[in-house]
Amino acid sequence: MQLGEFGLIEVLRKVLGEADPDLLIGMGDDAAVVRCPEALAVCSDTLVAGRHFFADVAASDLAWKALAVNLSDLAAMGATPRWALLNLSLPAGHGEDWGRWVDGFIAGWRAMAVPWRLRLIGGDTVATDGPLTITVVLLGAQRPAPMRRDAARPGQGIWVSGSLGDAAAALDIARSRRGLAARRPQGLSAAAEAALEQRRLRPSPRLALGEAAAGCGIGCAQDISDGFLADLGHILRASGVGARVDVDALPVSSALRPALGEDWSAWQRWPLTGGDDYELILCTAPELEQALLDIGRATDTPLTRVGEIVPASAGIELRWRGHVQRVEGHGGHEHVF
Ligand code: ADP
Ligand code: MG
Repeated sequence: MQLGEFGLIEVLRKVLGEADPDLLIGMGDDAAVVRCPEALAVCSDTLVAGRHFFADVAASDLAWKALAVNLSDLAAMGATPRWALLNLSLPAGHGEDWGRWVDGFIAGWRAMAVPWRLRLIGGDTVATDGPLTITVVLLGAQRPAPMRRDAARPGQGIWVSGSLGDAAAALDIARSRRGLAARRPQGLSAAAEAALEQRRLRPSPRLALGEAAAGCGIGCAQDISDGFLADLGHILRASGVGARVDVDALPVSSALRPALGEDWSAWQRWPLTGGDDYELILCTAPELEQALLDIGRATDTPLTRVGEIVPASAGIELRWRGHVQRVEGHGGHEHVF
């Protein structure tokens, strides 16, 4: 049987439209109505087939990622996820295929949404002549003061969660397998490649870290989606400061490490500028660094100090294997070394 717009919405409502005491009207009316005594953090991100994901990706992985990239934005603010809107633009003409697709989508959505108690409260479903497109809007309770991009100050330490570069290396592997332009990381076992691919498909937004860090008074954070250097650059530009970064200290996974070695261009391509990590950059004054380390332990999040904020006049200085390299401007995707 062909699953039309209303059938599909009904499936989503039955499985994902859970009750919530602060949800006065959920899916099914013209608008959802929520009660929220706190400030709300609101964010949105769109994924487009062919641009943000391979068109043949499993629906469950896609749902996970569509949520994860948005949850990562809430994590960077220190907000707690509450409600989600989901806009689906589905290529016309697939008929009953969407029935199977939506089952997978729901499974991936629940795997990410249930642990974080995120409720689906509405959205829109349309047919399109263009590519499959998914937009998620999230509303989160902003209990502690938000962590902002414009709050970095000279003397603060620059900290990074987890490890950097895995997803970008996995994308290169996936692209080279498909015969697309890529630089395939060398010297990795099949198990290491599989571990990197998991990081690409199923990023873990650092929500527990973000909430706790904001709660203890850390005022500056940003999630890493465009690449460490580009996203650090956003902080530096917004705050009007510079940075000294110890590239030797950048956290990299044991899966990726063999592909980096002493090759500067590999360090540059994956940990420094590769995208899709969904880790957090946090800038914090020395007095709060011990509290941050305690939060890392309490939330089971690896945290690494990778540099410090300096006055704007110093720009960005990268140190690697005893060499110092100055980056003009505030970092971005194009660095020539
Ligand atoms: P309207 O025409 O009034 O915008 P719709 O027919 O588009 O209403 O949607 C009916 C209900 O289903 C609304 O409550 C809407 O929020 C919900 N809805 C539609 N698509 C989705 C979706 N992809 N995910 C969650 N809720 C959805
Ligand atoms: Mg509508």
